[in-house]
Amino acid sequence: MKAIIVKPPNPGAEVKDIELSQEVKPGQVRIKTLYTGICGTDRGIVSGKITFSRPQENASELILGHEAMGVVEEVGEGVERFKKGDLVVPVVRRGCGICLNCKIGRPDFCETGKFVEAGIRGLNGFMREEFVDDVMYLVRVPEPIKDIGMLTEPLSNVVKAVDEILNIQNRMIWTCGDSTYECRNALVVGSGPIGTFFSLLLRTNGFNVYLLNKRDPSPTEAYIAERMSTTFYNTTQGLEKLPSADVIVDTTGYPSAFLPLLKKFKKNAILVLFGTSSGDKVEIDADLVTFFVENNIAVVGSVNASKEHFREAVNYLTLWKEKYGSLVPRMITSMVSPENGPEVVSKKIPGEIKTVIKWS
Ligand SMILES: [Zn+2]
Repeated sequence: MKAIIVKPPNPGAEVKDIELSQEVKPGQVRIKTLYTGICGTDRGIVSGKITFSRPQENASELILGHEAMGVVEEVGEGVERFKKGDLVVPVVRRGCGICLNCKIGRPDFCETGKFVEAGIRGLNGFMREEFVDDVMYLVRVPEPIKDIGMLTEPLSNVVKAVDEILNIQNRMIWTCGDSTYECRNALVVGSGPIGTFFSLLLRTNGFNVYLLNKRDPSPTEAYIAERMSTTFYNTTQGLEKLPSADVIVDTTGYPSAFLPLLKKFKKNAILVLFGTSSGDKVEIDADLVTFFVENNIAVVGSVNASKEHFREAVNYLTLWKEKYGSLVPRMITSMVSPENGPEVVSKKIPGEIKTVIKWS
């Protein structure tokens, strides 16, 4: 079958015909891949910048791809929850089987680091015509979101991060006088798919949202902001016009992008670090530390998501499809063939929010 493979830590990706056993064991299903999304992690692996990527044990190459949606083609013995024709999304991280968090289905909080991640480290991914998976790693997608179901992951990670915000802020009364979050301001730095999903999800939860980039919005970004009643803000205009912040989410991984914003924090606010990068350096002084201490500012890093967050992500996609029609589908700015996969995974398409590979 056709697959997009990488050889980490070496850069590059290629389309290749591979042979893999497609035997369906009890408790497993065989899935025909419909779509796979391309994200920054895929690009980091292909550029050789992500150094933790590795093939499965005893393999020299890794099948890329961790954002996928497919259709069940064959059901193994004992499988009751899925039938032929069901749309499914696979979860990415598979637990270590040792630590308590993994044992209770929260490998996103794995304590040993001995987990594997499909298409990233130690487990083949989904950029291939079909794959066999255990049903415990699958989440069903309803037919009405067939066109956007492949966005369940990355959205699942954003659902987890927003859960983290609300859990941590339970350290006090943080809701407004009317029991909502409508008096709370969130600044989201970076307007890629992750930043866009943070703005949609925080807005859906009642927050006033400002999506920040150092340029004007593209027509699609302007459309999404208008439909969701969020504000797309070009930071080159200066930060004075931005409101004070209860939440700042960084999706860029560049401290030089979010550090200047920290003086916007209100008391008891929270900084969420979601983006990753390398190289960018900014000095932190003692005055900033004092400011964080004196104002009870929380800082949290957030990565990955549990299966429950995937389920919640499916629910949000369904709600948004119903409520806003073409808004989320418009986030998919390009759809390419597997043959063009290596090219688009090596280089961002101008004006891109999300590029998707169509497999069948
Ligand atoms: Zn673990």
